[in-house]
Amino acid sequence: MTYSYISHLQCSKCGRAYPHQEVQTFCKECLAPLLAVYDLECVRREVDRDEISRRAKGMWRWHELLPVVDASHVVFLGEGDTALLKLPNIGGELGLFNLFVKDESSNPTGSFKARGLGAAVSKAKELGIERVIIPTAGNAGGAMAAYAARAGMQAAVYMPTDTPRANMEECRIAGAEVVLVEGVISDAAKRAGERARAEGWFDLSTFKEPYRTEGKKIMGYELAEQLGWELPDVIIYPTGGGTGLVGMWKAFAELEALGWLNDTKRPRMVAVQAAGCAPVVKAFEKGAAVCDFWENAHTVASGLRVPKSFADALILKDLRASGGTAVAVSDEAILEAQRQLGRLEGIFAAPEGAATLAALKELVKQQWLDPAERVVLFNTGTGLKYLDQMG
Ligand SMILES: *Cc1c(COP(=O)(O)O)cnc(C)c1O
Ligand SMILES: [Zn+2]
Repeated sequence: MTYSYISHLQCSKCGRAYPHQEVQTFCKECLAPLLAVYDLECVRREVDRDEISRRAKGMWRWHELLPVVDASHVVFLGEGDTALLKLPNIGGELGLFNLFVKDESSNPTGSFKARGLGAAVSKAKELGIERVIIPTAGNAGGAMAAYAARAGMQAAVYMPTDTPRANMEECRIAGAEVVLVEGVISDAAKRAGERARAEGWFDLSTFKEPYRTEGKKIMGYELAEQLGWELPDVIIYPTGGGTGLVGMWKAFAELEALGWLNDTKRPRMVAVQAAGCAPVVKAFEKGAAVCDFWENAHTVASGLRVPKSFADALILKDLRASGGTAVAVSDEAILEAQRQLGRLEGIFAAPEGAATLAALKELVKQQWLDPAERVVLFNTGTGLKYLDQMG
């Protein structure tokens, strides 16, 4: 029995191959992210999608399509298999008959970062890494600290001084060293990178290692399964580093190659950002291939306070390939959408998740959507972690 069908890693820019059996970061030639490649022909012959559906719940029931080769290295805290909920009340108000939310708030550490860090820490364990470090806008640090604790690894987390307090405390309770940095995530990344190089820590920054996006891609597999092996028409995703957007788009290509979809129509992907930090929206509108660094980034949605993603070229390429778009929303609109989700549907969303509803309202106004289309919002975390942001 083959636990994982990973074959190698491939540079997303030049296509150069790298072995997954060794520690990898990003392409040494073009400094672009590496993506995992699987032997999908073999998976197609040897793995039954319906058997996967009968396995015990959680992200790792898709282990053939995840990077860990030996099951004993999996670090599992219950991540994955989140609910896909219909939003009948908000859908009714907006005139949309098939509006859903994929509610990622039930993941360990209260956000979908658990998926990416669960995959990355597991693969790091497999490769014998003992010390992991991360710059974070908040939730990634908490997730890394939890998985590192369970894996018996040492953890260091660099975060801006105004990161939600819940994120600081969840790192400390998991035994991680927390370093507060003046500025935004890019300032934290600089400091964490220096420490990593000086002391030999492994850096789990978004896309600076290949496996966080593998964990997040499983959201795409779950969506297909939950919709009867079809994909939605539109996915509205709060985009910071873009790990989930790029990961899901990769999942859809894999699903198609596997022949697991009943209908191969792909969703239009919508990247949502905050008006106070919208590098992807700006680049998308200009027709640019990469993003400019966003100066003075500010927003209540701390997970969206990413002035420039390391995977900006990939995000923009995938958005365009999908026929999607990019939308910026104000903090005011985010907080109003957060109240609507609570009042009308009983969901206490993270501001990043609420941003997707704010963007949806814009798209409805522009008649960008058809009333019958299947639209999926992503609530990427729980609002409970942001109490000090709510005033
Ligand atoms: C990190 C984060 C995001 C952005 O995720 P990416 O996949 O890196 O774009 C969105 N929402 C929440 C709650 C986050 O923690
Ligand atoms: Zn390359």
